[in-house]
Amino acid sequence: MRKIAIYGKGGIGKSTTTQNLVAGLTEIGCKVMVVGCDSKADSTRLLLGGLHQNIVLDTLRKEEEDLNLADFRKEGWGKTLCVESGGPEPGVGCTGRGVLTSIGLLEQLGAYDQKLNLDYTFYDGLGNVVCGGFVMPIREGKAQEIYIVTSGEIMAMYAANNICRGIQKYSLIGDVRLGGLICNSRNVDREEELIQALAEQLGTQMLYSIPRDNMVQRAEFYSKTVIEYAPDCKQAQHYRNLARAIDQNQNFVIPKPLSNQQLEKLLMTFGLFD
Ligand code: ADP
Ligand code: SF4
Ligand code: MG
Repeated sequence: MRKIAIYGKGGIGKSTTTQNLVAGLTEIGCKVMVVGCDSKADSTRLLLGGLHQNIVLDTLRKEEEDLNLADFRKEGWGKTLCVESGGPEPGVGCTGRGVLTSIGLLEQLGAYDQKLNLDYTFYDGLGNVVCGGFVMPIREGKAQEIYIVTSGEIMAMYAANNICRGIQKYSLIGDVRLGGLICNSRNVDREEELIQALAEQLGTQMLYSIPRDNMVQRAEFYSKTVIEYAPDCKQAQHYRNLARAIDQNQNFVIPKPLSNQQLEKLLMTFGLFD
């Protein structure tokens, strides 16, 4: 089983992209589990047709014993298995630690058992910030493969570079590797060239570029992935292409993060600081 974590700045499109590409993977016969790691607990909404009602950390807080996997693992579109870790009480506790507790419980209850024949587990929602808590799942070897969602907007690229700093640190002592950048377009000028250049300097690849398309909002309104809502549209095909690119990817690296000066030079080269 491949264990994949999707990182990127908050609001960049991690959950949308993950669920759509997961739908694409199920279409080519893959068995996938999605573990939402965001306290918003919205990483599985499009696969489940609405927000997950049984969040791991909430269930843990309420029930002392007799926990069953079925209490918080629901089947979603394409027979995906959907879990939401949830977060600590606001103002109390550490989100990263909470995620680790959830993953530990999933392991204990057999969520990753070989007999399930899972091809993939996706962890979505880690790391808008790269604090010690958010890198815990990487540090503890829970995810081995990372993809970073970014656009050509400056803050998204800064975040992507920072995330690479975190990955570099732990890939030197463990086996976590970066599989590439996923461009989720914001229609910035020369966006693909820019992300390709960033990827090259980081020592990785731009795995795929997903266009910005209102079809995403339409599908989201009905709590569906684009692949479910409009399977024949162009955007659905882009998500399928991304799914295939991940399925076939063999390019895994220890990233080489840029200094802030290098990053700004890159932005200037592409004219953002005109
Ligand atoms: P994150 O999980 O990174 O916080 P989300 O996946 O929730 O971000 O995305 C934020 C919003 O951006 C979504 O509500 C969705 O409507 C929109 N969005 C994401 N990707 C696209 C896209 N390719 N085209 C249009 N809208 C998008
Ligand atoms: Fe939040 Fe990170 Fe601090 Fe944990 S380490 S409390 S996840 S900021
Ligand atoms: Mg999200």
